[in-house]
Amino acid sequence: MNALVNARPRLGPAAFSGVVTAIAGAMLAVVLWAEVSSEPVTVNWTIFVLISLLLLACERTPRAWVRSGQAGVVTPLWMFSYALILIGSHSIAIGVALLGIVVHGRSRTDAHADAITRAAGTTLSLATAALMLKAFGVDGTITNLEAVPVGWATAIVMTGLAIVLLNAVIAAIALSTKRSVSFLTIMQRDFGSRVTAEGALLSLAPLWVIGLDFSPVLIPLLGITTILVFRSTRQALERLEEAQHDALTGLPNRRSFIDAVDDSLAKLSAANPHVLLLDLNGFKEINDRLGHDVGDAVLIAFSERLRRALPAAGTGARLGGDEFAVIIVTPVGQRFRREIIEELHAALTQPLDIHGFPVTIGVSIGAAAAPADGHTTRDLLRAADVAMYRAKRTGTPVEWYANGIQVKQRGRLNLLTDLGNALEANQLHIHFQPQLRLTDGQIDTVEALIRWNHPDHGEISPSEFIGLAEQTDLIAPITEMVLRAASKGLLTTGEADVRLAVNVSSRSLQDPYFADDVFSVLDENGFPPSRLELEVTERALVANVERSRYTIDLLRKRGVRIAIDDFGVGYSSYQTLRLLDVDRVKVDRDFVQGLLVSPRDRLIVSSLIELAHDLGLDVVAEGVEGPAIWNELTRLRCDVAQGYAIAPPMSYLDLRRWLPQWDASMIHGIADHVT
Ligand code: C2E
Ligand code: CA
Ligand code: CA
Repeated sequence: MNALVNARPRLGPAAFSGVVTAIAGAMLAVVLWAEVSSEPVTVNWTIFVLISLLLLACERTPRAWVRSGQAGVVTPLWMFSYALILIGSHSIAIGVALLGIVVHGRSRTDAHADAITRAAGTTLSLATAALMLKAFGVDGTITNLEAVPVGWATAIVMTGLAIVLLNAVIAAIALSTKRSVSFLTIMQRDFGSRVTAEGALLSLAPLWVIGLDFSPVLIPLLGITTILVFRSTRQALERLEEAQHDALTGLPNRRSFIDAVDDSLAKLSAANPHVLLLDLNGFKEINDRLGHDVGDAVLIAFSERLRRALPAAGTGARLGGDEFAVIIVTPVGQRFRREIIEELHAALTQPLDIHGFPVTIGVSIGAAAAPADGHTTRDLLRAADVAMYRAKRTGTPVEWYANGIQVKQRGRLNLLTDLGNALEANQLHIHFQPQLRLTDGQIDTVEALIRWNHPDHGEISPSEFIGLAEQTDLIAPITEMVLRAASKGLLTTGEADVRLAVNVSSRSLQDPYFADDVFSVLDENGFPPSRLELEVTERALVANVERSRYTIDLLRKRGVRIAIDDFGVGYSSYQTLRLLDVDRVKVDRDFVQGLLVSPRDRLIVSSLIELAHDLGLDVVAEGVEGPAIWNELTRLRCDVAQGYAIAPPMSYLDLRRWLPQWDASMIHGIADHVT
C-alpha cells in the first residue's frame, strides 16, 4: 500500500538523503575524534565479535522482520548495533551496522534504493547514542564498569529513547519526501507503532551484552527471548495495520480513506483532490450464484487491477462490499486530465482472471472535485455518491457530480432549480396522516407527508419531485426539513404517546452520515428517537444491503424504528426481511384494496400478516378507504390501519384540531358491525 495522499513534494528524496548523509558524516567524525583523543577503553572483544556475527546473520535473512506502519521494516539490526555500542568501540560498532545494511540491501532487492538513506540514518542515530553514552560517563563494555547500576540504567534508557526518536523522525521525513504525505501525518500514524517495535527490541540490547558477558552458553536463551519479543511486537503491529486496511484485499479501508481525504482537504491551497466512488455492477449476482469464494476472488482480482491501473498520484481504497474509492491529487496549476478516469474505467472493465476463467465486471464511477463540489470530506463524498448513483442508473461509465446537475436543469423545466429555491422560500410544508391501532382504535403513529406549493404550477405531488430530488443531494436537506418540522410539530401538539413516521428516500439510507444527521435534528428539538419511525421502501433497502444495514443498525441502536414501506410491490420483499432487521411492514395499498375483491390478494395479505408476526414485526395496512376493509383487516389480525376512512393527510392546524377530538370509540363509526 502506498501513502494515501500525494501532493507536491517540498524536499526531494535525493536532497534529504544528502542532508542526512552530511550530518551523519560529521557526527561520525566527532565519534572518531572522541575515541582517538581519549584513553583507550577495555572492550570485551569476544562478545563484540559474537554479536557482530549475529547481526550480520540476521540481516542476511531475506524476510521482513517487523513492518512498522508505513515507515518501513524493523530488523534486529537496531538491537544488535545498540548492543555493540554498549560493549564499547563505537566507531567499529557503527562500521558493523553499516556492513549489516549492505548485506541486507543485497538480499532484498527492494531495499536497494533506500540503502543510502538507511545507512546515513543509522550512522546518525548510533553516533548520537555513542556521544550520549560518553556524556553520561559510560565508557567501554558496560559490564566492566564499576559505576552505580542506577547510573547506567538511566544512561541506557535515555540513549535507547534517543535512537527510537531519531529513527522515527528520520523515517518520517524520508517517507514524506518520497510520498508527499505530510511529516506530521506520518508521525501521528506511525510513531506509536515504531516506538513499540523498536523500544521493545532495544530494551533487549543490554540483556544480550550482560548475558553474553556472563556466558556465551546463554545465546539460545537470549535468542528465544528475542524471537518471542519480535513475534508479539509483530502481531501487535499487524493488528494496528488491520485497523486501517481491508482484510480481504489489503487496500486501505473506509477509515483510512476518510483520513486521506481529510488530509488532502487540509492542503487545498497546494493541491486539488478528486474523489471517485466505484461500484461494481452485478457483483451481487456473482456472489449469489457462484458463491462467496468466487465473489472474494473477484474482489481480490479487482483490487489488484485497481492498484495497477491507478495513476501515479492516485490511491485506492475498499469502502466495503463491492464499493471502492479513489483519491487523485493534482498540484494546483496543473490541469487535471479528466480522460484518465475514462482510461481507468476501461482498464478496470477488462476481463479479470478468476480461477482461470475470464470474468468481466462492470463498474460505475462517480467523480467529484474539491473545492468545486465540496469543501469537507462529507460533502465531497456525498457529491461523488450522487454522481455514482447517476452513473448506475443511466448506465454511463463515469459521471461527474457537477455535469449532471447542469444537464438536469436544462432537461427538466427548471423544476430542480425551483425545488432548491422552494426549500429556501418555504414553499415546502408538511401534511400529517394518522394511523390507528385496529385493536383499540388508539392513535399509533402520525405520518409526515411533504407538500410543494409551486407558485406557477400549484400543488406538485411528492411522487413527482422526490424522485428528482433523489438524483441530486437536495434530498438530504429536504429529509432534514421534514424531520425537523414534523418532530417539532408533533411535540407541540402535546400528544406524548403518538409516534412520528417520516419517509426516507432510498438515497438517504445509503448515506453513511444519514444516521448522524437524524440524531442531530432530533437532539436539537428534544424529540425522543424511540418515537420516530422511518419508512423506507424495500427497493432502497436492498440496493446496497451493506450500507443499509450500517445505517439501520446505527438508527435502531438508539431506538429509531424502521418500517418497510409499500411492502409487496417490489421484487425483493422477502430478501429484505431475510437480510435486514426492521420493526414494521406497511402492506402496499394495492394489496389492501384488493382484499375484498380478489381471493388471491386476501390470501397474500393474510399470510403476509402471519409471516410478519412470526418474525416479530407489526403490520400496517395502507389505503384503508372504507369500513369493509377495516373489518377484514381486523379479522386478519392486522395491527394498524391508515387511509381516507380514518383521515386524509391534513395540515398542521387541522392535525391540532383532529388529535384532541379523536376518541377511540369513534372507530365504531369506521367499522361496521355486520360481521
Ligand atoms: P407513501 O409513503 O406510500 O405515502 C402514502 C401515500 O398514500 C400518500 O400520498 C397519501 O396521501 C396517500 N394515501 C393515504 N391514504 C390513502 C387512501 O386511503 N387511499 C389512497 N388512494 N391514497 C392514500 P402522497 O402524500 O402523495 O405521497 C406519495 C409518496 O411520496 C409517498 O408514498 C412517499 O413515498 C413520498 N413522500 C411523501 N412525503 C415524503 C417525504 O417527506 N420524503 C420522502 N422521501 N418521500 C415522501
Ligand atoms: Ca410512507
Ligand atoms: Ca406506502
